[in-house]
Amino acid sequence: WALALYISVLAVLYILLAMGLHQPTNVLETAVGSSAVAVILMYWLWRRGTKPAHSNLDSLGAALSSEQAKSDIILNTIEDGVMLIDNQNVIRVFNPAASIITGWPSDEAVGLDYTLVFKLIDDKNTPYDEGQDPFKKAFEQKKSIRDNQASLVARTKKNIAVTISVSPLLSGDQTSVIGAVGVFRDVSQERGQEKRSADFVSTASHEMRTPVAAIEGYLALALNDRVTTIDSKARDYLEKAHESTQHLGKLFQDLLTTTRAEDGRLSNHPSVVEMGAFVEKMVEDLRFSAQKKGLSMEYVMGTHAAGEHVIDASSPSSGSTKVIKPLYYVNVDPERLREVVTNLFDNAVKYTESGSVSIGLTGDSGVVQLSIRDTGAGIPAEDIPHLFQKFYRVDSSATRTIGGTGLGLFICRKIVELYNGRIWVESKPGEGSTFFINLPRLDSQQASQLQAAAKATSGLVTSLPTSLPTTSAT
Ligand code: ADP
Repeated sequence: WALALYISVLAVLYILLAMGLHQPTNVLETAVGSSAVAVILMYWLWRRGTKPAHSNLDSLGAALSSEQAKSDIILNTIEDGVMLIDNQNVIRVFNPAASIITGWPSDEAVGLDYTLVFKLIDDKNTPYDEGQDPFKKAFEQKKSIRDNQASLVARTKKNIAVTISVSPLLSGDQTSVIGAVGVFRDVSQERGQEKRSADFVSTASHEMRTPVAAIEGYLALALNDRVTTIDSKARDYLEKAHESTQHLGKLFQDLLTTTRAEDGRLSNHPSVVEMGAFVEKMVEDLRFSAQKKGLSMEYVMGTHAAGEHVIDASSPSSGSTKVIKPLYYVNVDPERLREVVTNLFDNAVKYTESGSVSIGLTGDSGVVQLSIRDTGAGIPAEDIPHLFQKFYRVDSSATRTIGGTGLGLFICRKIVELYNGRIWVESKPGEGSTFFINLPRLDSQQASQLQAAAKATSGLVTSLPTSLPTTSAT
């Protein structure tokens, strides 16, 4: 640029000189020449400054020169669908990938209410209600929501398995939600693959359970004194074989239950269960296995203060103080509930060397709470968040020697969640663990109504008290 300026100044000087010396021809020619050189030089310099450079990096740099261009490039290039809605539910941004996944062209989708374009269904093809809608949830809860189970009904009415993550956009003062960004991805292939492997595990474990049960049966016969005569060495081997076969049978059963729980095919016949009577009966059945290991076993009913007597309402009044047991009704499949309690109880016995196992039952107007406490090794805090995941086992010397599948607590969680309940654990290493289950409580009226409905369909007659007895002293 300096050279061009220098030549331009020279050209002007020549023009002035030509006019002053009255020798126009030579000097004027030189002036015109210099001007032309200056113009060409300036043009070349200008082109060099504006022409895009050739390397990819430079062209990206040029393309990214504005914030708007940056967002456009990202939105138009990524394979994830991106949809931005405002707080009136109107779609403001709908990227090309969103169009490919949903079948809605961007120019048609933008400006529409998102519920017309983005229709989600669950694994049973039931449309999502407002409580399930991840956008509604993000607006209400003011936090990011993920959903890995949904399917999207495309414009062609085809169902596409998707994963969705919706993040709310908060106003400057963070008090209100002004919009939400949804990022979604077509995972049909992955979900298809998961389904095929779950089907394989389910079929394989189902098929293998039968021969394993037969082996277990024959081994039990071989160990039966009244059927066979065997020496102590053979008995020792057969006992080991019997134990391993039982373990294998349990593994197949757990695998089968796990795959069924995951794809919602767990058999489930809920009915009204009075937890007090149910747990009392279970305690009697389970007591033996605790005693076999030298552990004491307690059953603690209600939230009674120390020293207060708990006497069954049905038992004859023995003294001056009588406390009526509350009736804790829940609507669950008793077989499934039995599975959960047995699993937690077996774990309590399995992971406790000495001391006691106690089962507690309490509740308030909304929930019934069952607890299973042991005085065993306890669970390290870092393992607790993972405990209810599939195949998770705490890596300790105890679990290395004690057999297990790591599926029991996963199955318990799935069953408890089936009834809108919650399961969790509190534990102190070295002191023991307590597993809690909360289940929604039915009042006596709801229990009677449900029983009447069940009676109408099955012809079963059972009577229930019409009002819920409360704790009282007479
Ligand atoms: P497993 O077949 O291994 O017992 P679970 O899913 O029932 O599988 O339990 C998962 C893990 O949780 C167990 O391997 C064990 O490490 C831990 N665990 C479960 N219950 C208890 C308990 N009562 N005390 C200590 N650890 C426990």
